[in-house]
Amino acid sequence: MGTLRDILAAGIEIAVLWFAIYVLLRFVRATRGSGFVRGLLILFVFFAVVLRLAIELFGLQRLEFVYGGSLSTLVIVAAILFQPELRRGIARLGEHPLVQRFSGSSPTETVGEVGRAVAWLSQNRLGALLAFEREDSLETYVEGGVVLDARVDRLLLESIFQRTSPLHDGAVVLRRERVAAAACLFPLSDNPELSKSLGTRHRAALGLTEETDAVAVVVSEESGAISLAVRGKLEPVEGARDLEGELRRAILGRRRRVEARVVPAPVS
Ligand code: ATP
Ligand code: MG
Repeated sequence: MGTLRDILAAGIEIAVLWFAIYVLLRFVRATRGSGFVRGLLILFVFFAVVLRLAIELFGLQRLEFVYGGSLSTLVIVAAILFQPELRRGIARLGEHPLVQRFSGSSPTETVGEVGRAVAWLSQNRLGALLAFEREDSLETYVEGGVVLDARVDRLLLESIFQRTSPLHDGAVVLRRERVAAAACLFPLSDNPELSKSLGTRHRAALGLTEETDAVAVVVSEESGAISLAVRGKLEPVEGARDLEGELRRAILGRRRRVEARVVPAPVS
């Protein structure tokens, strides 16, 4: 009976630890320079576990005293040092499909607004570039642009890309259900296989999607053509209906499988 309890207790401990580490790593993913922070975190957890095991196995009481004291201090120091990352991580929790089901914000509405704005921009031959942030943070590009943090609205997006708008040069970054920033500059793709006729707007869409998992939509000022860039590949999109479906597939497919299933993409 005792052993069963021990096994159960160990199981619960492992599950709680696993969950805590998983949540921490997800937090860290949202940050810049995450490789370094993640490495540090893994090292820290590794040493904490090894030390704890050594203390338990060999009954190292003096070490346990130091360990108990320094662990809590270290956690507080880490929380202060990584405060911006923590805040961003907590904000990201709200992005989880389960949380969103209760909070009422809908990614499909965002895709609808963007789709209608893009169709209008294309009809009116206004050049545009919009990127949807997914798992990889686009914070660097948001910071380089004009931060808006506005509700997604087709009229706002259409206004931004008017030729006389001070924000029309550069790209819009969409983060969760918000317009994070406008006039952002993305890295240009230097893929030598690209056609020479491809201008900087299209190269910026490709450059960004080569470096991150973002999805970019481009409206050509010259032809009104709409294209979608995913993972460094540019695909033409035929009509506005098609665009909404393709956007939904590209953006909601992996990140928000729950919503994608509720509202299936139209069959074209
Ligand atoms: P279009 O078909 O609309 O002419 P294009 O691919 O030929 O597109 P350009 O004609 O070079 O591209 O488009 C220039 C516009 O692209 C700029 O006015 C600017 O708004 C945008 N742009 C250029 N470089 C970047 C960049 N690095 N990041 C974001 N946007 C950019
Ligand atoms: Mg051009």
